[in-house]
Amino acid sequence: MTMRKNITIMGAGLVGSLLSLYLAKRGHKVDIYERRPDMRKTVLDGGRSINLALSDRGFKALRGIGIEEAVRKVAIPMHGRMMHDEQGSLTYQPYGKEGQSIYSVSRAGLNAALMDLSEPNPDITYHFNRQLLDLDLRQSKATLRNHETGKLEELQTELLFGADGAFSMVRNAMQKTERYNYSQSYLEYGYKELTIPAAADGGWALEKNALHIWPRGKYMMIALPNLDGSFTCTLFFPYEGELSFESIKTDDDLLQFFLQTFPDAVPLMPDLAEDYFSNPIGSLVTVKCFPWSYEDKALLIGDACHAVVPFYGQGMNAGFEDIFVLNQMLDDFDGDWENLFKAFERSRKPDADAIADLAVMNFIEMRDKVADPRFLLRKRIESR
Ligand code: FAD
Repeated sequence: MTMRKNITIMGAGLVGSLLSLYLAKRGHKVDIYERRPDMRKTVLDGGRSINLALSDRGFKALRGIGIEEAVRKVAIPMHGRMMHDEQGSLTYQPYGKEGQSIYSVSRAGLNAALMDLSEPNPDITYHFNRQLLDLDLRQSKATLRNHETGKLEELQTELLFGADGAFSMVRNAMQKTERYNYSQSYLEYGYKELTIPAAADGGWALEKNALHIWPRGKYMMIALPNLDGSFTCTLFFPYEGELSFESIKTDDDLLQFFLQTFPDAVPLMPDLAEDYFSNPIGSLVTVKCFPWSYEDKALLIGDACHAVVPFYGQGMNAGFEDIFVLNQMLDDFDGDWENLFKAFERSRKPDADAIADLAVMNFIEMRDKVADPRFLLRKRIESR
């Protein structure tokens, strides 16, 4: 058996939490450090209900720790996309063949479920309110801020996984090493989350088993179903320009724009103005970097090494797939961590780059081409 290691995971998001379960199952001792408080005890993100599309890629990794079916039970299958045109007419395109779907799941619900599963394991310990501020990779020494005491803490790591997301501090330390490749690029679009609440009878106000899209050329809105009958809508909109986050300043501007652009959605969004003016604008970033590891001491995983824009719904799925692939490779490399890390980053990098580029391209397809009659015809022919 591989020698038991003391493993540190930075970041208890979706990827860090799932990774802890895989590593502990292999007999390692895992400590996870998370800058935020325990999400199961605190209302984060202003209590917004955010959902994600979980695909086969993600389910495969959940299967490895035996929770695929439990997650499927609290997820809503979306068998296809439902397009809403400017007159409110609907067009439906199935995603795949009969029975193939992607699933809408609550991000917080899934993250909390992974934490609940790992916490009873004596080999996994969560340390909340600990923020990585600085990392000396050569000495394997991390400096963290303890947000409960306000004090700095030093941590000696044996094996460190950076699962600390798109703005990773672990990656930040790697960027200071020699010949490190790194790029980040932002779209000129941001996103804002809005809500369609449950209908008066408690059911869904739109077709429940679909991902809804209002494609409008230069911008678009999408909606994914939640278990409580509501939909979480995301408006992707330019930051600046004639019609943009910058140009919509008053309730009146907003209502005029929505009535003209998304007329069938307006009656379903009673809290539109409140949501719009109180929810923050999120940015859309692609991060590419290489290598993902430092000697046998540290490895990046998930968004920390490949943050992608959300238009393929594959960011979390790709992060979960990282874990699935890493777990398989652990069998082949039996404790040779440095070569394992090298083989892992070499095998994953082309796929990560591909999904990053496809995600940017799919934005153009979703906001524009899905409304084009030629595209609809092609899709109809393809699905025969
Ligand atoms: P994160 O979820 O970012 O988690 C990182 C964790 O590290 C966080 O808990 C953070 O608090 C912690 N952390 C950060 N810095 C530090 C530090 N210095 N010290 C300690 N802890 C730290 N993906 C899909 O697969 N399907 C979708 O439908 C989908 N939709 C999306 C929609 C939007 C609008 C966006 C923005 C993204 C979407 N994604 C989707 C992508 C998905 O959210 C990410 O790929 C996924 O969250 C990555 O998980 P992660 O654990 O790597 O990073």
